[in-house]
Amino acid sequence: MANKYCVANWKMNFNSQQGKEFISSLNSKDLNNGQSQIILCPSFTSIFSIVDASKNSTVRIGAQNMHFENSGAFTGEVSANMLNELGVNFVILGHSERRHIFGESDKMIQSKMIQSIENGLIPILCIGEKLSDRESGNTKKVLRSQLEFGLENVSGEYIIAYEPVWAIGTGKSATSEMVAETHGVIRNILADLSIHDNVSLLYGGSVSPENASQLSAVQYVDGFLIGGASLDVEKFYNIYLDL
Ligand code: PEP
Repeated sequence: MANKYCVANWKMNFNSQQGKEFISSLNSKDLNNGQSQIILCPSFTSIFSIVDASKNSTVRIGAQNMHFENSGAFTGEVSANMLNELGVNFVILGHSERRHIFGESDKMIQSKMIQSIENGLIPILCIGEKLSDRESGNTKKVLRSQLEFGLENVSGEYIIAYEPVWAIGTGKSATSEMVAETHGVIRNILADLSIHDNVSLLYGGSVSPENASQLSAVQYVDGFLIGGASLDVEKFYNIYLDL
């Protein structure tokens, strides 16, 4: 059975103080009620204080990105080793905002996958089609290519998050039917690549307390990657309870 995860991607929101307020409010709730592991992904500058604030809780911390080399002349970058040293356990890789705004290639993402695992992090590999891909019937082709490139020569533990680009931050989640069909497609691609079926497969894209219970009931949904709704502790906790 795949592990379940409820992942908050705070993106470029919350300074350390705001993050600490969130975590203290989350820690005051019953975190043994849900069935999933909570992972909070703050900005780099908040990681130290959020790791510290989560010390006595079941919450785990992830980063939103990292560099594909472990050290060197890469001004402004942060390595997997630096994250690991801070107490980070997970890292989001290949998020659509990284691919499309910052021009990250599949090759860069694959190098980051390898580097993160070598440094004791569990990467969350994001894949997903653009609206134009879906409308032209290319969803399967795009997902296969992102998985084949992203996972080449990668061994060790990782998580996959299916995030259709058109559903991210738009308030327009994929329907349960679409998620069921696409997660089935992804499972088949993983089987073709001889990847065992206990790799967790998350859905992300406008998950909210209103659609979480319906989406979590879909076969092969092992959790959520949540952007906007993860900035509100009540919304995030309600989604966690629905998983
Ligand atoms: C995301 O950024 O990964 C995401 C899924 O955002 P949102 O929940 O806001 O669509």
